[in-house]
Amino acid sequence: MSARGRACEAVVVGSGPNGLAAALTLAEAGVHVRVLEAAATPGGGCRSDARTLPGFVHDACAAIHPVTVASPFFRKQQIERHVEFVHSPAALAHPFDDGTAALLLRDVRATDAQLGAGGSWARTMGPLVSDAPALLEDLLAPLLKFPRHPLAFARFAPLALLPATLFARGALRSARARALFAGLAAHAMIPLEAPGSAAFGLMLGLLGHHVGWPFPRGGAGRIVDFLVERICAHGGEIVTGHEVRALSELPADALKFFDVTPRQFVRLAGDALTSSQARPYERFRYGPGVFKIDYALRAPIPWCANECASAATVHIGGTLEEIAHSERDAWRGVRSARPFVLLAQHSLFDASRAPDGMHTAWAYCHVPHGDGGDFTDAIEAQIERFAPGFRECIAARHTTGAMQMQAYNANYIGGDIGGGAATLWQTLARPRLALNPYRTPLAGVYLCSSSTPPGPGVHGMSGVGAAVKGIWDRG
Ligand SMILES: Cc1cc2nc3c(=O)[nH]c(=O)nc-3n(C[C@H](O)[C@H](O)[C@H](O)COP(=O)(O)OP(=O)(O)OC[C@H]3O[C@@H](n4cnc5c(N)ncnc54)[C@H](O)[C@@H]3O)c2cc1C
Repeated sequence: MSARGRACEAVVVGSGPNGLAAALTLAEAGVHVRVLEAAATPGGGCRSDARTLPGFVHDACAAIHPVTVASPFFRKQQIERHVEFVHSPAALAHPFDDGTAALLLRDVRATDAQLGAGGSWARTMGPLVSDAPALLEDLLAPLLKFPRHPLAFARFAPLALLPATLFARGALRSARARALFAGLAAHAMIPLEAPGSAAFGLMLGLLGHHVGWPFPRGGAGRIVDFLVERICAHGGEIVTGHEVRALSELPADALKFFDVTPRQFVRLAGDALTSSQARPYERFRYGPGVFKIDYALRAPIPWCANECASAATVHIGGTLEEIAHSERDAWRGVRSARPFVLLAQHSLFDASRAPDGMHTAWAYCHVPHGDGGDFTDAIEAQIERFAPGFRECIAARHTTGAMQMQAYNANYIGGDIGGGAATLWQTLARPRLALNPYRTPLAGVYLCSSSTPPGPGVHGMSGVGAAVKGIWDRG
């Protein structure tokens, strides 16, 4: 992938899923586009590699892809005809100290029954799942506008605005249901007592029922291979190993799209932004970091609860109270003794991920912003708690701390993998209060990363939103 020296009409800085979605949208509209990527390979937070031992495939960042298959962009690209998505029998398992586990299943009533939720899970989730296609159109787009589907949105919004703890205690009738919901909501990386923290829980729950929590056979990188192939087929170019250090390096007359976060954008823009123009971007807040471990395993994880072997994703954190405690700690800059751990075990359902008889695991926990500490023992103690003997299965491990995350991808400021904290305010006004969040104060310059709506995840919709504005502005 090298520049062919043709004059380009648009430049995209950064080849994460949003940068590539912007590039493909522009290329499909007949714009000649060039993508400049700092890393040696394209894909940002959607790459796979053999980081432990030869023959293993590990997802460096994103691993589970409900928002990809639900995204209007990827649906339009008919990604499921080109990339095979694997569905484990259950979307998610959530083990408890009594040796049992709760499951998030496609069927809402079956989920309710095994949660012992007395109909409360089905009553809450059922209507949202029926509204899912309409809701997703509004939720995977900027929120500061009149919704396209006001009735569906009006049913979702009052619940989504609540703190996850308040919602779970008020609406769900069993401790198992409340714990399952807490694990879903904790993906937001904000305290579960914060307003709006229920939104992630509702969204991820409804996606589990609506499309499942699938992942690409062969690694998340297959999604990026697909996008790169499409962009090149439309005449676009992708240049890797090219870090852009200043806006002024880019062709003056080209449309410019930045798949970076606000702090980086201000630095790249330099004097082009006045101090008052830069201020809202400088005020943008980043959240906790992550500590991640990739494992090569000699055997499947020996879960106490057999149900855990039926789900590609396992949430390890016990009760709602314990998960809420761990998330509060990470937000306040405290190292949690019992961190909430998000784990994926792809190789149980995708043999291409590991050599015969061997397995992979992908696990991370939330840690204080910029924390340089080693959370290996804390993560493994949590896994051992629900799968005694796990440590004996480890053939090799690869750890990535919060600041190593930032070194891997400059967008992960302080290890924040969400492109900025998903507080209620920064969900509504992302990255700043504006009717058009993708436009910057500079003509022809747009932000297209997960720091813009709809926020984190491999959905490409931030890229699409920015590209459409760019094309519109150019007439
Ligand atoms: C551990 C982890 C687990 C995750 N799990 C999931 C998951 O299971 N499912 C899911 O949907 N999402 C998940 N995510 C989130 C998902 O990866 C991100 O939300 C998504 O990748 C954001 O895409 P993006 O295009 O906005 O930015 P990124 O993917 O971060 O890409 C930005 C790109 O820009 C490049 N860049 C930055 N600055 C410059 C510069 N100056 N010059 C040139 N290039 C530059 C970077 O190198 C990078 O390639 C996870 C992330 C992490 C880290």
